[in-house]
Amino acid sequence: MRLKIKEGQNTSIVLRASGKLSMEGRVMPIPGPGEVVIKIGACGVCSSDISRAFKKKAYHYPLVMGHEFAGEIISVDAEDDAALLGKQVAVFPLLPCFQCEPCLREAYAQCIQYHYYGSRNDGAYTKYLAVRQWNVLPLPVGVDLRDGALTEPVAVALHGLNRLGLSGGGNRGVERVLIVGAGFIGLVGAEMLRMSCPDIAITVADRNQYKLDLIADPATERVLLEPNQGLERLVTERGGQFDVVIEATGAPSVFRETIRLVRPGGRVLWMGNIEADLLLPQALVSMILRKEISILGTWNSSYAGRAPSDWTRTLELMANGLRPSRYVSDFVRLEDAPDILRRLNERKTGKTKDNIIKAVILPHHE
Ligand SMILES: [Zn+2]
Ligand SMILES: [Zn+2]
Repeated sequence: MRLKIKEGQNTSIVLRASGKLSMEGRVMPIPGPGEVVIKIGACGVCSSDISRAFKKKAYHYPLVMGHEFAGEIISVDAEDDAALLGKQVAVFPLLPCFQCEPCLREAYAQCIQYHYYGSRNDGAYTKYLAVRQWNVLPLPVGVDLRDGALTEPVAVALHGLNRLGLSGGGNRGVERVLIVGAGFIGLVGAEMLRMSCPDIAITVADRNQYKLDLIADPATERVLLEPNQGLERLVTERGGQFDVVIEATGAPSVFRETIRLVRPGGRVLWMGNIEADLLLPQALVSMILRKEISILGTWNSSYAGRAPSDWTRTLELMANGLRPSRYVSDFVRLEDAPDILRRLNERKTGKTKDNIIKAVILPHHE
């Protein structure tokens, strides 16, 4: 059953090999059993896509990347789903097996044999994509596709705050929180933390003033890190003073310094996708013991279809005014996706100082 029939090809950005991206026409998807076809309205570029595209981290080739997306349902498989036609939806990218032990606990993000749009399966750097109906959540009234596409990374940040017990109001004895890294997840995490805990003193540290300037809340302290110094000065001046330190960069050196920055008995949240091995000197391991620090990991986000989860909570926050697209620095056409990926990679490897915080692809913009 189709709302509109579009003839012709499904333009897609295809990763053919590490560093090799091309724009190709693929066959238009049709919904398989239990699937719906989405006209992709917007798709975020995740930093993991940079590793997939340029650091041989792709699961296989060829691959269409893109796991942060929202769009409009234009065709459905089952007659029963006809009411979904025309609905704007966000899409949970993980396809659980529903059979393993974590799946039976509904901890789908920990599924041990999952599929994933944009990684193990083709994703949304394309105009149209067939996805499982279970994975779609309608966007609340007033939330547009550009914000809806960012449900996934916002839910990841919210999940991190959940791990600290700081997402549902109440400070739980926490007075000072440091977030290292003003990338998209750090920035949106700081904003949500402010929404749920107005009394907490929040500090955000980054090397990039442009990123820090995107913090709208005047009560949030911004610390500009000197390019060659890393966290040294902050550690010297404020080490041991934060109740909670959140790592949101992925740099191993920052993971290490969180141990010095947190107060005795404090908590550290490791959230960034770590980029290389982490060497922990004996003195720092000793510090973890002596300070009795709790180091928490956080991974992905919870999703349970229409039942309450990080995803439904994220959409509620957006319905109440959270606009994550304000942290998007670049909206680009599909044909410009390879170029923005290259620029993001050059920035990541230090070749340029481009101020790209977050890029979002708009596949139907000409
Ligand atoms: Zn991602
Ligand atoms: Zn499973």
